[in-house]
Amino acid sequence: MKLSTLLKEKERTLSFEVFPPKTSDRMETVLEATEKIAALQPDFMSVTYGAGGGTSQFTVDIAARLQEEYGTTVLPHLTCVSSDQDHVKRMIHVYEEKGLENIMALRGDIPAGGAPCHDYTHAIQLIRDIREIAPEICIGAACYPEGHVEAHNRDEDLQYLKEKVDAGVDFLTTQLFYDNTIFYHFLYRAREIGIRVPIIAGIMPITNASQVKRTVEMSGTIVPERFLAMVDRFGENPDAMKQAGVIYATEQIIDLYAHGIRNIHVYSMNKPEVAAGIQASLSAIV
Ligand code: FAD
Repeated sequence: MKLSTLLKEKERTLSFEVFPPKTSDRMETVLEATEKIAALQPDFMSVTYGAGGGTSQFTVDIAARLQEEYGTTVLPHLTCVSSDQDHVKRMIHVYEEKGLENIMALRGDIPAGGAPCHDYTHAIQLIRDIREIAPEICIGAACYPEGHVEAHNRDEDLQYLKEKVDAGVDFLTTQLFYDNTIFYHFLYRAREIGIRVPIIAGIMPITNASQVKRTVEMSGTIVPERFLAMVDRFGENPDAMKQAGVIYATEQIIDLYAHGIRNIHVYSMNKPEVAAGIQASLSAIV
């Protein structure tokens, strides 16, 4: 199913993200986790794309399998910055041939030392290529409530986002955030400059203390005091940390739904127990 249709028709959605293995010997373990998450019957599942593009086939294989065997609506990602245009165009054809109706179109992080190839500098070029090659595919793109780490300022980032959306994006998913007021403020500013597509709020449950440092470094997100206190108190106890992390994320989600936000995407990181914990606490809500 196209996500543009799903997001329009369903009152509220809850979806989960999985990522492919780095090597083929890990594929079985990853498939096991993704299938457990699929069994929860989320509204859709996204499958990320390895930054260098070297594991691109895994993304396609996992997404196609979830769609074929579980009837799951899938959103495979596709990045462009580390690939040449021929490879990217071939991948777009592969997605189409596999009957994948949605693509999350991303630039990808620029690798240390610079991109190995200069065909793409920004996601907008990929979006234009998808629109040209496979006009029927529903396209998602990324947005950053606190501004992308490379952006000079948030206004400039938002202007580029508007251009990206106008190039043919059907919906946006946000970078993670731990303070919902950041999202509400962003949503207001996005609507004000005329971005009308659905904006899915991306929520990352923190389930171990070391993940906090990594996540914050990569995303540059502001970490509220309440969140830090939780990590300080429970960080040394893995079970307690996981439980607290799931509850924190669930509270964020309930607050978002309560404020009329209809679409939530959980960065569930191949952890079925985390996805199940969140879903169980929302069973009468979504
Ligand atoms: P862009 O939209 O190109 O933006 C990147 C920067 O360039 C921003 O600072 C923006 O302001 C600026 N910019 C945009 N357009 C222009 C323009 N026309 N001219 C000048 N400047 C411009 N990474 C992966 O490797 N695999 C994944 O599967 C993956 N999934 C993600 C999912 C989500 C929901 C999010 C939020 C991020 C994901 N990422 C993933 C990370 C993403 O690839 C990085 O954040 C990357 O650095 C930016 O990608 P983008 O598509 O947002 O780029």
